[in-house]
Amino acid sequence: MKYEWMDQALCAQVDPSLFFSEGPRHTSRKALRICSTCPVQPECADYVSAFEGDLTAKYRYGAWGGKSVRQRAREGGEPPAADRDEQIIRMTDRGLAPGEIAAQLGISDRTVFRVRKAHRKQKETV
Ligand code: SF4
Repeated sequence: MKYEWMDQALCAQVDPSLFFSEGPRHTSRKALRICSTCPVQPECADYVSAFEGDLTAKYRYGAWGGKSVRQRAREGGEPPAADRDEQIIRMTDRGLAPGEIAAQLGISDRTVFRVRKAHRKQKETV
């Protein structure tokens, strides 16, 4: 079976909230410690990398393959901040709420608010 490696996943033997806690960008240190001893870490990393291109994917949350969300984003060539900021503004213009934008982009609500505020200030000075 294609996913039989999951039978050996250490995360399946502990409290799942360790791995999917506190929203986008947050990764528990306890989860990363568990990953560091997991026998199927390479298989897990391959599995999640297949999904990370989809910014709406649930895989943008928590620890996978022994890496935090931020580590995976850096390695996956996440768009530079300027591109991300433009994306936030476009999504805002489409009427998405800050929480939706944050979840879809895998960033914090605070980042969305900061970018929107900077954009408003920029428009006021023009
Ligand atoms: S490496 Fe993957 S399968 Fe192993 S504990 Fe971490 S998240 Fe679970």
